[in-house]
Amino acid sequence: MNDKTSQPSQQSEGLSVRDAQTSVLSRIAPVGAEEIPLQQALGRVLAEDIRANRDLPPYDISAMDGYAVKSADIVDAAAAPKLLTVIEDIRAGDMPRLALQTGQCARIMTGAPVPAGADTVVRVEDTQARPGDQVEISVPTPAATDIRVRGENMRQGDVVLAAGTEIQPGSVGVLATVKRAMVKVYRKPRVAILSSGDELEALSDPFNPDKIPDANSYTLMAQAQALGITPACLGIARDDPDELAGYLRQGLEYDVLLVSGGTSVGVHDHVRPTLEKLGVSMHFWRVRMRPGHPVAFGSSGRAFVFCLPGNPVSSMVCFEQFVLPALRRLCGHQRLFRRMIPARLTRPVKSRAGRAEFVRVTLAYDLDGGYTATPAGAQSSGDLLAMARADGLLVVPAASKGVSVGETVPVQLLEASAYQDEPGLGEEV
Ligand code: AMP
Ligand code: MG
Repeated sequence: MNDKTSQPSQQSEGLSVRDAQTSVLSRIAPVGAEEIPLQQALGRVLAEDIRANRDLPPYDISAMDGYAVKSADIVDAAAAPKLLTVIEDIRAGDMPRLALQTGQCARIMTGAPVPAGADTVVRVEDTQARPGDQVEISVPTPAATDIRVRGENMRQGDVVLAAGTEIQPGSVGVLATVKRAMVKVYRKPRVAILSSGDELEALSDPFNPDKIPDANSYTLMAQAQALGITPACLGIARDDPDELAGYLRQGLEYDVLLVSGGTSVGVHDHVRPTLEKLGVSMHFWRVRMRPGHPVAFGSSGRAFVFCLPGNPVSSMVCFEQFVLPALRRLCGHQRLFRRMIPARLTRPVKSRAGRAEFVRVTLAYDLDGGYTATPAGAQSSGDLLAMARADGLLVVPAASKGVSVGETVPVQLLEASAYQDEPGLGEEV
């Protein structure tokens, strides 16, 4: 499908960020599934419902070290401490041998099965051992205290994790609990990265002061790696249609091709026309955003192509807005977008009306005041230093001409924002 004629908003300024995201995501579905060992499943997305293969706990168990008793025997224990006879010692892993009669109890450990005849557990702290297998209980304990009943955590046959769940450490524990050594997850997309531009110098090239070092191959690789994907870097294509076509053809063998540079309208920007010659349908090629205006998206068969602007910050910001949700959907995720948080601005930010502006900010957190956002440095689309420092991207809507100090603004969290300097738990914790 080619939208060139069907989208009137594809005018000189291009689509809104949201429309461009919709254009991308409406074409993308997970790329398939595979079975992998549980130890490798962290961060992957389940492609099957997982059911409990037994009741857990498998029987009523004690939640505490103490004594399993009949609650009726100790209702008056507050008035007069009650002496009970200890008939058995039950440890986790043991099965009780005896049923309790009136006046009897069993010493029981956390996780051990509650014996027949007992209906509650008295904590060891509320008891006093006495000679001759006797125990004195001075605290009346109502029925069903500190007992975990059979099946309260999961019942055999219940769905415990639904298809589409991202596997977190907690879900790894659930999968181990239901004895899944192998799990079916969505396959990861195969991603290729290509840089383009005559001025570029590869990391492995000898130093040449007249050249521009290729940063984008590495930032894009790192951004993909942060999503658990290991991309292939195809190298640097010169601004030559034939050389470019060779590289692009190679890149279209992958699920996703990311090309940076040469996507604008300069005479040496050959990427878009070359892709079209190779049969790629372009769905959009401009978005009303800054940085990142000359970003394009197309598809050919099952391959998706993102043409990212050459400026390093633009290419990163476009990855965050378009490539990241696309790769997450290909990986089977349901949560596609970076988390947004509100933050108060500490310095004014100017913005050009007509384009959504993504401002690189650092964040600070204060338990009383919430988050504050501070521009992370020079906001040029070529200046990677602010991007290297940023915790998030402050989003200024297209209609706005700027934001004043103290205003609350939406911030899109970046990878770096998961951690902070201070525990921030507050004095009471
Ligand atoms: P272009 O999108 O090709 O017009 O490039 C815009 C700017 O980004 C130019 O200053 C390029 O030198 C720079 N640029 C393009 N590709 C890269 C890259 N891979 N790494 C660093 N800078 C780049
Ligand atoms: Mg160029």
